[in-house]
Amino acid sequence: MNKVLVLGAGQLARMMELAGTPLNLDVKAFDVRSDKVVSPIYPDRIYGDLQQGIANADVITAEFEHVKHDVLAECEQSGKLFPTSESIKIGGDRRLEKALLESCNAANAKHYFINTKADFDNALAQLSLPIIFKTALEGYDGKGQWRLKSAADIDSVWQEMSEFLASAKETQGIVAEQMVPFDRELSLVGVRRVNGDVAVYPLTENHHTNGILSVSLAAPVDSQLQDQAGTVFKALSGKLNYVGVLAIEFFQVGEQLLVNEIAPRVHNSGHWTQQGADTCQFENHLRAICDLPLGGTQLIRPTAMINIIGEDSVSDDVLSIPSVTMHWYKKGKRAGRKMGHINVSGDNEQQLAERLQKLASILCKQAFPDLADFANAYVNKTK
Ligand code: AMP
Repeated sequence: MNKVLVLGAGQLARMMELAGTPLNLDVKAFDVRSDKVVSPIYPDRIYGDLQQGIANADVITAEFEHVKHDVLAECEQSGKLFPTSESIKIGGDRRLEKALLESCNAANAKHYFINTKADFDNALAQLSLPIIFKTALEGYDGKGQWRLKSAADIDSVWQEMSEFLASAKETQGIVAEQMVPFDRELSLVGVRRVNGDVAVYPLTENHHTNGILSVSLAAPVDSQLQDQAGTVFKALSGKLNYVGVLAIEFFQVGEQLLVNEIAPRVHNSGHWTQQGADTCQFENHLRAICDLPLGGTQLIRPTAMINIIGEDSVSDDVLSIPSVTMHWYKKGKRAGRKMGHINVSGDNEQQLAERLQKLASILCKQAFPDLADFANAYVNKTK
């Protein structure tokens, strides 16, 4: 079993190919824009259409959750798709996601589904301000959201949302969610094999800039929180009979974790595992879907990941910092686009914090606006 087809030909498929090649796995990707099977690293190399890709693959997986349902159905019919189309669809529809969380008793923000003005009024009556409204389908990186903070804005928010619903496809809807006064955003990346074996990475602390993940920090974590997250991971992945890497995003409120959302795939907040863990998330995803023994998920050294957003170069001086690695995705430059990431590790958190501070002093402030503040706070915390 060594031929893998990934639905989606972006950076996640690319990093799967990079991780799979040493394992003797042959990773190809179905580019949903061209409808062609390509090499994720060399997208000019074309290997036919979807039908040929399915026929040639031993296993099929996905790098994003918004794959067209007819493509998922075709892949599932082949018996080669991992995780199941049900799991992938749940990641792409907040209503299904909430239903899964409820069925597993996984704590999450109080919420209501909205299609009509009556639903909207009901949500307002049941929730207190501030409320966040999210499109049920096609939302990512904070897109497709409205925040209602003051009663004075109720009419204008409904006006915008009703116009959006009227112009959207019939299956679209909105989820109203209680805004949670969280202390931190954390995520758990874990992996489950066909036989039910589960391994989870340490919880990762995530920071966003303009709604996009900017920094993920993996360092030793409180065991109570880690156990809580692990229990949620086992419940959700078991319920779905999940195979592969699954990411769960949490809000930490005091000692409690509330699930924000799940991603049925390798995840941006797990990119640090390339340098900070025994086995990276990309290799573990491939191991799971190819039914190979899972690799260790232990943190081997504190590591941070910094996303490069909208820039196609950084100063070469960053490479003068010890334990810095660059990961470019070879994508065309566009504002707001994830172009690559930097991983940086330290023997301990203090050393990592100092290296982050050095990195922030080299990188352009406009492109990495929050990095210096983050690094300075981390240096003070680890002193
Ligand atoms: P999402 O697309 O659901 O991950 O939301 C994007 C960002 O909005 C999250 O990373 C949070 O910073 C914020 N957010 C989403 N839902 C809530 C919530 N219920 N309470 C507070 N902040 C939220």
